[in-house]
Amino acid sequence: MEVHFLGTAGGVPSPARSLPCTALKRNGSVMLFDCGEGSQRQLMMSPLSMMAVDCILISHHHGDHVTGVPGLLQTMSLFSRQRPLRVFGPTGTVAMMDRRFSNHDAEPCYKVEVRDLAPGDSFESDGMTVLAVGTDHSIPSLGYVLREPPRSGRFDAEAARGLGVAEGPLFSDLQNGVAVEIEGRVVSPEEVMGPPRRGRSFSYSGDTRPCVAFIEASRGVDLMVHEATFADDSIDRAAESGHSTARQAAEVAKQAEVSTLVLTHISPRIDDALTLEREASEVIGTRNVVVAQDFDSLRIEYPE
Ligand SMILES: [Zn+2]
Ligand SMILES: [Zn+2]
Repeated sequence: MEVHFLGTAGGVPSPARSLPCTALKRNGSVMLFDCGEGSQRQLMMSPLSMMAVDCILISHHHGDHVTGVPGLLQTMSLFSRQRPLRVFGPTGTVAMMDRRFSNHDAEPCYKVEVRDLAPGDSFESDGMTVLAVGTDHSIPSLGYVLREPPRSGRFDAEAARGLGVAEGPLFSDLQNGVAVEIEGRVVSPEEVMGPPRRGRSFSYSGDTRPCVAFIEASRGVDLMVHEATFADDSIDRAAESGHSTARQAAEVAKQAEVSTLVLTHISPRIDDALTLEREASEVIGTRNVVVAQDFDSLRIEYPE
């Protein structure tokens, strides 16, 4: 599982930062979180394939987060995409997409499933559970929390041999949860398999003030991507405009017991991103926080 930061600016782009777009790649499929203007070009300049994008999750309808959707969909159509595409977001997403594609000439040649999500809605994507979380911005907004299902426990080959099970197909049976019989005695999978291990997890805040619902939903995720539009000196502006400071984002990550925090949605007014990193690291330590730059990527490994 890899996270690619394609656009890390907030509000308006800068020469160094494109508008919000974060990509999660897993099993060859790519999910985008927000799709600001220029995201398709950022995708082309990244190692990801534009045609592998199967799902676009929108956090809210401010222009910096959605203006890249029509262009991306149109290019996919010109490239004769066949696979269906999902575009999900908060209330108003269906209406927004209808407006963008009211002209039939612009309608994509592939199926686009568009859905309005309410806070608390969840759906399956490629075997993962995606939860939409109501966040606290100036208009209806959602964050997203993704969790893989638990993996089966570790197989104890020594224990299996000790119970007289020979290596080979019987090992596979036990690993697949099937009991085997050895000289009249049944060996059950529970005797040789460790406890289930949790899968990988990820959360994306979108634009928000520090938000309790997002903290609770994100508890223990492997990687949290949180907006950090402002530094400490603009804490009042953050509150007024429905945003967070880097320090507040770090407090959210700390309360959610998240080990890795990536800050994004950086205001172009911030000259030095190290200020954000320093302020956040005072809360959760330097090893646990990164200020994303465009085209940064991170792997999420299995926790054990
Ligand atoms: Zn924004
Ligand atoms: Zn916004």
